[in-house]
Amino acid sequence: MNSGRNNRVVVAGAGVGGLAAAALLARKGFDVTVIERQRYPGGCAATFSRGGYRFDAGATVGCGFQNAGPLDLLGCDLGLSWPALRSPVAWEYVSGDISLPLSSSKRTLLERFPRSLPFWEDQERLASILWKLSGDILPWPPAGAVDAGRLLGKAVSSPSSVVHLLRFLNGTALQWLASYGLDRESAFVRFIDAQLLISVQTTAAYASAVNAAIALDLPSKGTCRLTGGIGSVAEELAASVERSGGRVVYGLEATALEVAAKKVRAVVCGNGESVPADVVIANLTPESLERLPGAMVSPRSVIPGAGRPCAEWSAFVLYLGVREEVFSRCADHLQIVRSEGALGEGRSIFVSVSPSDDARRAPEGFRAVTVSTHTRPAPWFDALNRGKDEYKALKRKYTRTVLALLGERFGGLEENIGLVAAGTPVTWERYTGRWRGYVGGYPQTSLFRVRGPLTAHSNLFMVGDSVFPGQSLPGVVTGARRVVDLVERVCGQ
Ligand SMILES: Cc1cc2nc3c(=O)[nH]c(=O)nc-3n(C[C@H](O)[C@H](O)[C@H](O)COP(=O)(O)OP(=O)(O)OC[C@H]3O[C@@H](n4cnc5c(N)ncnc54)[C@H](O)[C@@H]3O)c2cc1C
Repeated sequence: MNSGRNNRVVVAGAGVGGLAAAALLARKGFDVTVIERQRYPGGCAATFSRGGYRFDAGATVGCGFQNAGPLDLLGCDLGLSWPALRSPVAWEYVSGDISLPLSSSKRTLLERFPRSLPFWEDQERLASILWKLSGDILPWPPAGAVDAGRLLGKAVSSPSSVVHLLRFLNGTALQWLASYGLDRESAFVRFIDAQLLISVQTTAAYASAVNAAIALDLPSKGTCRLTGGIGSVAEELAASVERSGGRVVYGLEATALEVAAKKVRAVVCGNGESVPADVVIANLTPESLERLPGAMVSPRSVIPGAGRPCAEWSAFVLYLGVREEVFSRCADHLQIVRSEGALGEGRSIFVSVSPSDDARRAPEGFRAVTVSTHTRPAPWFDALNRGKDEYKALKRKYTRTVLALLGERFGGLEENIGLVAAGTPVTWERYTGRWRGYVGGYPQTSLFRVRGPLTAHSNLFMVGDSVFPGQSLPGVVTGARRVVDLVERVCGQ
């Protein structure tokens, strides 16, 4: 059990990916130190306090907690039970006159789009193969003979699954819809586009069919609400690291790596301290890691010839304190989408309302509401470069746009708002250290255009949503398991 005790692992960043790797390694006996620049853990999946509220910063929906899902398995391995309660509805999709509560039952969805039944049957079959394949460590992209052997083992053990998977390997989600004649059903394509944008970060015309299959499965697998907010996940993981003898140090930023003979020897911190390491795990985006003096990311992390996956989106987020009567009888989460126009930039929003019985989240009679929309970072940084007034004007414009769409669904909204705060790509960069505020990882357009955890240093690994399988809590936890395996291999365990 304590085989790793002499190996010092330093994890830069206490996001869910970094903490999952740290907690598993600490549990296995490694000497783990997590360095986090903020005063609290969670990054994009943090919950922060402001004006008597606890707001979910970015992520709001607890995915992957279903039986044998990535978070369920992680909880079992760490001996912890999540403060998670199953939600009857994952989220409600609202667009024009369409209103679809998404849950494990597809009844309403099929009533609205009856011709889509064979597509959903196919999607469920593919998703169940993928959940099975990713159940333990998913060695993709392979990092040498051991991984290649494991992939071959998976293929040999279920050849029919692999044959089925091959059918979809190079196709897009839109081609898949077309094979069922659904590509011309514009309201259905818009629905699928909206689901894919919030999960695989691109729409059906570009999304890989394989990634789409898993993403479209999330509502039917069941989602959870986390008591205290989504940040409870990171808080539980940080506590688990400490229970296993590790350290989580807040308010400390990794500012450089000390490298000798191509190996990282220590992580240099903002306070001048140098933390010696046998292995370093960077819970940073590749763009942020590349900017740390000493670190070299490429070329081992990408599949040669497949192109370098790059993030494209950031988020504009409103944090609202609202009187609770505005939200009577609505689902905890709603996706509101205009019937026309490109998605994102205030034309599609994801709304999460804190549960009325979670007293930690809001003052009595109020709810903590997080509303997000995809936005491109460049205009925000351009505006900032032109001066604070331009940046503030852009922020006001987006605030008005988002409140207008929300107000169409919830009458009397504006008169009942007690607190408004806005987060932009500039805020995301400042709070999470993610260069240019890129969040959500890379658009999942191909299984081959992905990034693995390897870097140019044999003892430096990346974890988080820039690394396969990408964004979401289940995504980064699955990626963290892979990193734990690689760390054990490099440490000769
Ligand atoms: C608006 C939005 C909505 C989302 N909704 C959902 C959802 O509903 N469900 C879901 O499952 N997922 C959702 N996601 C995705 C999910 O939040 C992320 O994929 C996941 O949390 C990313 O985790 P990560 O491991 O990459 O770490 P990050 O969240 O990127 O955290 C990295 C951590 O490292 C710290 N750090 C950075 N640089 C340094 C440094 N140099 N030194 C020390 N510390 C450093 C940061 O402060 C941060 O705490 C959403 C994301 C966003 C932005």
